[in-house]
Amino acid sequence: MVRPSDARTPVDVRRKALQLISLATSTTWPEEARTTALIAVRLIVEHNLLELSTPGNLEELLAKARAEGAREEQSRRFKQDAADRERAARAREQKPRMPRAPDGCAWIHARFDSVCIFCGTRVTTGEKVLWEKGAGVIHEACWPEAYAQAKAREQ
Ligand SMILES: [Zn+2]
Repeated sequence: MVRPSDARTPVDVRRKALQLISLATSTTWPEEARTTALIAVRLIVEHNLLELSTPGNLEELLAKARAEGAREEQSRRFKQDAADRERAARAREQKPRMPRAPDGCAWIHARFDSVCIFCGTRVTTGEKVLWEKGAGVIHEACWPEAYAQAKAREQ
């Protein structure tokens, strides 16, 4: 039986060890630093990695591992931002909508000053109103009550 670790090349193992070292030396969590450093050292000992690299290219590889870590962090943040935007868009969609205008009516912005046919007070130009063809306009705020009364009359 082939264990996953058997398939690893020395380069893969060295890369993994460098990523662990990079994390161990950059994390702000002492516990994480200790744990990752320990795993890195075990890998280094188990695979005899110090024999494979000269100090020069070890530095180089460490820098590469750090850059890779930064890219991963950036990608993680990007995904997080995308998720935030998606959630915000969903919240906007779920906002309660105006009730559908009944037949022969439409939600409009008043084109001129007039009077609400329900409460009899002023409607000013630009105000959102329910317009009923041939009848007039009703304040947006008056509509729920007007609708309830119309329903009651129907019964
Ligand atoms: Zn009104």
